[in-house]
Amino acid sequence: MRLLIVEDEVNIARRIESACVSDGLLCHLVETGTEALGMLKFYDYEAVILDLGLPDIDGIEILSRIRSIKNMTPIIILSGLSSTEDKVKCLTLGADDYLTKPFSKIELLARIYAIIRRTSGHSSSVINIGPMEIDLKQRCVKIYGNEMPLTSKEYSILELMALKKGAVLPKETFLNHIYGGMDEPELKIIDVFVCKLRKKIADLTGGLNFIETIWGRGYTLRDFDNADCGQNTESIHRRDALKVG
Ligand code: CA
Repeated sequence: MRLLIVEDEVNIARRIESACVSDGLLCHLVETGTEALGMLKFYDYEAVILDLGLPDIDGIEILSRIRSIKNMTPIIILSGLSSTEDKVKCLTLGADDYLTKPFSKIELLARIYAIIRRTSGHSSSVINIGPMEIDLKQRCVKIYGNEMPLTSKEYSILELMALKKGAVLPKETFLNHIYGGMDEPELKIIDVFVCKLRKKIADLTGGLNFIETIWGRGYTLRDFDNADCGQNTESIHRRDALKVG
């Protein structure tokens, strides 16, 4: 999961970053509103942590600009301003949460996860897909109660697919999600990760395939109801792709 942190006070920015990074979240740190709006044009984030007092554009103005272009990325305001008026104004303009400084790292993380869950349509921190349980808080996956051994990148791929269950995700989205635009390897690395994931899932389910390849578009995680016919669907997609190509 990747976050954008918009904070001009270096010490506070570092504190937010260290809390997030130690919990396995990727962060992009920017100090100005202009940079924040620029980053939001190029990247998708799971959430934005936004300070209000910034050197160039006021945080409230940034919030309003983000929502005016129908960008619905979850936004948590983290500000020294603690009046009810400020909070109400931000929440009315489309902020998802409001936390005041000084803040507790644990509370910030809890709020980040709560918002990501809510905006992904999940009310608990565990996403169930058939016999598979993806625990966003513990960052672990169980199938029929058995923990699946995963590297952190494999987990990140499965986590993204679970959060966006049913959506077709291009390989570029996975690269962005796990490398955050830094030192990105080639797209085909995603195929390697997916191949390993499929094998691990199959090992624990007796051969079921949850991850569908949509040729030319990317990958999607299906619900368990359709998972047992996965191989067939996939071969149909592959066959169709061969016909066209
Ligand atoms: Ca500030």
